[in-house]
Amino acid sequence: MKECKTEIREIKDLQSYLKDLYGNVNSNREWDYLYGYLSRTAGIVSKQITNAPRYRTLSEIDKTQFVLAISWLFSLSNYFEIDVADSYLKKYPGICPYCMVSPCVCYKTKKMPGINIPIYKIEEEKQWKYNDIKNQGALINSKWVISNTRAIYPANDTLWHHAGPWYHFTKLSEELAELHEAISKNQVGKKGEDAVSQEIADVFTWFISIWSSVFHDITLEDSMIDHYYNGCPECKQKPCTCPDRNSRPTDHINLDALNEINNRLHDLGSLKVIDEGIINDLQRAVEAAIDTQSEPRMVQASTHTYDKLKRIDSSLDKIDEAGKKASSIITTILTLIEKSSRIFGYWT
Ligand SMILES: [Zn+2]
Ligand SMILES: [Zn+2]
Repeated sequence: MKECKTEIREIKDLQSYLKDLYGNVNSNREWDYLYGYLSRTAGIVSKQITNAPRYRTLSEIDKTQFVLAISWLFSLSNYFEIDVADSYLKKYPGICPYCMVSPCVCYKTKKMPGINIPIYKIEEEKQWKYNDIKNQGALINSKWVISNTRAIYPANDTLWHHAGPWYHFTKLSEELAELHEAISKNQVGKKGEDAVSQEIADVFTWFISIWSSVFHDITLEDSMIDHYYNGCPECKQKPCTCPDRNSRPTDHINLDALNEINNRLHDLGSLKVIDEGIINDLQRAVEAAIDTQSEPRMVQASTHTYDKLKRIDSSLDKIDEAGKKASSIITTILTLIEKSSRIFGYWT
C-alpha cells in the first residue's frame, strides 16, 4: 500500500499534490508555457487514442500521456489558483448548465432551459444545486465526476461506442481553444476569473469523459499516484527542480527499440542463413530511422522489416542449428516491432 494513497481521496487532493510538486518551478513560468504543454500533451493523447486500432481494447494504451495532460491542466489551474473540482461542480451541479436538467435536453431546447425557470434565476438555481451537493458531503473524486457527467450527458457514451473517439477529441480541442481565449482576455482585463474557471471545468470534463471511455474502472487518482509516487519522474525530486523544457520528448521514436532491432539484424546477418543483400537493406532502413529520428521513417522501417522477416521465417529451413537460431532472432525482432506498434499505435 502506497502511503500517500490515504491522503489522496479527491480531485482537489491530486491538484494540491501537484502544487507541492510543481508549484515552485511553475511560479517562475508564464501561463503560456503551462498552456503550451497542456495543449501538446492533449494532442498526443488524441493521436494515441484515435490512431489505435478500433477493435483493440483501448485499455492497453499507456496511461502516461493522459496523466501528463491532466497534470498540466492542474498546474495551469494552480497557477491561477483555480480549484478544478470546484469549478467543475459549480458548472455541472448534477444538471446541464444550459437546459438545467439531467439528462441534458439541449438538442431539443436549443440550449434553452427545459424547465420553467426565468433566465435570470439560472445562476441562483445552479448555486442552490451546488450547495446541495456540497452539503451532502460527497467526495468529489474521479469516480464521482465520471458518474455525474455520464448522468447528465449519457449520449456521449453512446457516441463513443458507435462512432469512436472523434467527437470527444473535437470537443476537447474546441474547449482548449476557448480556455486560451478566456485566459488571454482575462489577462488584459476583458474577462473575469470566472470565465477562466468555467473553461477549465469544460476541458476537465472532456478529459474525464475520454478517460472513462478508455480506462473504465481505473481511477485517475491511482494512476496519478503511480506516476508521481517517487516525485517528479524526470528529476526524481520532490518538489521538482527540472530546468525549463526538460520534459522528455514523447518518444514517438523508440530509439532503444530501433537500436536493438539493428543489433539483432546484425546477429541475423552473421549466421549467413539469409541473403546478405536482404539483411543490408533492412539494416539501412532501420539506420535511416535512427539517423533522421523521423516518425514516418520508423513506421516504414518497422513495417518493411516486419513483413520481410515474417515471410522469410515461414520459408526458413529450421532443421539445422543456424536455421533454428535465425528463426529465434526473427521472433525477437518481430516481438520488438509488435510491442512498439502497440505503444505508438501506428498499425491501425
Ligand atoms: Zn443541456
Ligand atoms: Zn522535475
